Amino acid sequence: MQGKTALVTAAAQGIGRATAELFAREGATVWASDINEPVLARVACNERMVLDVCDMQAVSHAPERTGPLDILVNCAGFVAGGSILECSEHDWLRSFEVNVTSMFRLTRAYLPGMLRRGGGSIVNVSSVVGAVRGVANRFAYASTKAAVLGLTKSIAADFVTQGIRCNAICPGTIDTPSLHARLRATEDYAASLETFKARQPMRRLGMPEEVANLALYLASDESAFTTGQWHIIDGGWSN
Ligand code: NAD
Repeated sequence: MQGKTALVTAAAQGIGRATAELFAREGATVWASDINEPVLARVACNERMVLDVCDMQAVSHAPERTGPLDILVNCAGFVAGGSILECSEHDWLRSFEVNVTSMFRLTRAYLPGMLRRGGGSIVNVSSVVGAVRGVANRFAYASTKAAVLGLTKSIAADFVTQGIRCNAICPGTIDTPSLHARLRATEDYAASLETFKARQPMRRLGMPEEVANLALYLASDESAFTTGQWHIIDGGWSN
C-alpha cells in the first residue's frame, strides 16, 4: 500500500476504523472520514476529515481537500429495523440516502481523479443481509444492501477497461459498536448477544479486523484480476 492514497468513510469505529488503521499500517496515506469528530480524532492514520456522506455539497468538494485517490472504501451504513409494514417513508428514504446514495455521490466525486491517474480500487461495504439472504425485520436495510451490489457491478462493468476495479464486501454479523447498541436496545442485552452468537455456525461474531483484511486485499494490487464481485465474509452463516 506504499504510495497509495485511500479514503475510508464511516471510519471512526467498527469496520471502517479497522480498515483505515490497517491501510495506514500497510503504508498507505489514509483519510479517515466520519461525522463523529471526537472519536475520529482517535483513529490511528495520517489524515482525518469530518464528512457527512449525506451532505452532497461537502462530498462534491471533498476531493479538493484530499486530492485524488487510489482507493475509496464506502463503508457508511445505517440499520433501520422492521418489516415493510413497520418501515416508514422516512426510514426507507434515509436508508437509501446513507447506504446507497452516499456511494453514488462519493464515487462520482472521486472517479474522475482515478481515471486521470489511470486506475483505482473502489470497495463498497454491503452485507450478507439482503445481498445474499433474507433476514426478518431488516426490510429497508436489506433492500439497500442488495442495491449496493447493482451499483458495484455497474461501476465495475463501465470502467473495467480503464483500470478501475469495484468490488463489494458482504459481512455477516460483526462485533462493532453499532451492533452492541442494537443489542442494548433489546429488552435483554446478554440474551440477545447469545442469540446472535447461536445463529453463527462458528458460534462467534466476526471481528472488524477480519473484514479489514478482506478490504485490504480488494484495495491492493494483490486482487488486480478481481472486479464486479461480492465477497462474503460471514463465518459460514450464509452457507
Ligand atoms: P458502526 O455502525 O458501528 O459505525 C458506523 C460509523 O458511521 C460511525 O462512526 C458513525 O459516526 C458513522 N456515520 C453514520 N452516519 C454517517 C454519515 N452520514 N456520514 C459519515 N459517517 C457516518 O459500523 P459497522 O457496524 O462497522 O458498519 C460499517 C458498515 O458495515 C455499514 O455499512 C454496515 O451496514 C456494514 N455491515 C455491518 C455489519 C455488522 O454486523 N456490524 C454487518 C454487515 C454489514
